[in-house]
Amino acid sequence: MTSGKDQPSTKRGAQGKKNANCSFCRKSYRDVGPLVEGPDDVYICGECIELCQSILDQERRRRGESRTLFSKVPTPREMVTNLNQYVIGQERAKKTLSVAVHNHYKRLMAGEEAGSDDVEIEKSNVLFVGPTGSGKTLLARTLAKFLQVPFAIGDATTLTEAGYVGEDVENLLLKLLHAADFDIEAAQRGILFIDEIDKIGKTSQNVSITRDVSGEGVQQALLKMLEGTVANVPPQGGRKHPEQQYIQVDTSNILFICGGTFVGLEDIIAKRLGKKMIGFGQHLHRDADRQREELLSETTVDDILEFGLIPELIGRLPVLTTLSPLAEADLVRVLTEPKNSLVKQYQKLFQMEQADLEFTDGALREIAKIAKLKETGARGLRSVVEQVMFDLMFELPEQERGRKYIVTAEVVRGESMLFPADGSAAA
Ligand code: ADP
Repeated sequence: MTSGKDQPSTKRGAQGKKNANCSFCRKSYRDVGPLVEGPDDVYICGECIELCQSILDQERRRRGESRTLFSKVPTPREMVTNLNQYVIGQERAKKTLSVAVHNHYKRLMAGEEAGSDDVEIEKSNVLFVGPTGSGKTLLARTLAKFLQVPFAIGDATTLTEAGYVGEDVENLLLKLLHAADFDIEAAQRGILFIDEIDKIGKTSQNVSITRDVSGEGVQQALLKMLEGTVANVPPQGGRKHPEQQYIQVDTSNILFICGGTFVGLEDIIAKRLGKKMIGFGQHLHRDADRQREELLSETTVDDILEFGLIPELIGRLPVLTTLSPLAEADLVRVLTEPKNSLVKQYQKLFQMEQADLEFTDGALREIAKIAKLKETGARGLRSVVEQVMFDLMFELPEQERGRKYIVTAEVVRGESMLFPADGSAAA
């Protein structure tokens, strides 16, 4: 189409001609509206143009944009600065993770540059050891968002060996593909977080008389994936079956971050160090927490081995870091400091109803105290706050505008109702 004469025209001229059909979908202009006319009686309708556009976009994304994702890998310090906006404490984990992730993407870029293949940098998958609700998933998710790479979370406990009821290891990759909108190139540089990795140890908790369904067999399948393999991913998910078409995903550049609580690991460490654990009585609670934290910070690969993970799996998770249990004071900070903290979220909701919301320091401490007792880390905060706010959230849209509500420790303890503060009731 070089001459002006051959340019497609937008004239609704097709309507002038009787029986003009879209050359792509064969539908008549009467059904699909105006057609764009090309040379030699070729027409295309709006629907087909949109379809072509989306095919081209997808192709462009697959080839171009994902390749330019990492024009410059952020420095570990830049990553830590970003993490600080969302994650409280866990300084060591933040640093370790940032260095590992920086190296990982550096390695990836070096691999793309021709002629730089003399020294091969090994992949640095990460193992997080830390109690529930201490921020393991949050760290991984926040970093993936900052780097704008696809991110997915899987759970090691749902995995079983092929042939058993449960999920195949490949389904974890499918989640990553979903997160990448099926842009395979992007998915291949994504981050996959696998939770509860400690639960697939060759433990005695999961005894099946006939076979260890989710123990070592799964570990073997995971091993291949962690190290780098071309996996066949069933696009619809579910179990594999022979007639199915697979999407091939190369896992060698996917960063795997595995997390686990490793309950009882501190006993193993204490034994190795020849230390005695003190009791977990009420008055010793705080000390026990600190002792646990100190012990966990000394975790070595040998302790994880002793815990029950097979050596090959540990070998493929070369970066090991521990997260501390969040103390009450940390929980107060979690409530208020992160960019999208619970308190900020509720204040925003109130703002939308033209109302003000404030939590007193006493209230925040009380919420943290109740959440701490649940032993689910920062995870417990949400339900406590939700319970406190529940009745008011029901009433708020029908309340007078311009009011201010103050949550006090008494309100949190359920000793008084959440009323608008005195003097500010006037709209
Ligand atoms: P886990 O360690 O069990 O993976 P998560 O990272 O999923 O815990 O944490 C659950 C929720 O608790 C997060 O969504 C976040 O709101 C909050 N949270 C946990 N740890 C922290 C932390 N260190 N700083 C801020 N928020 C946290």
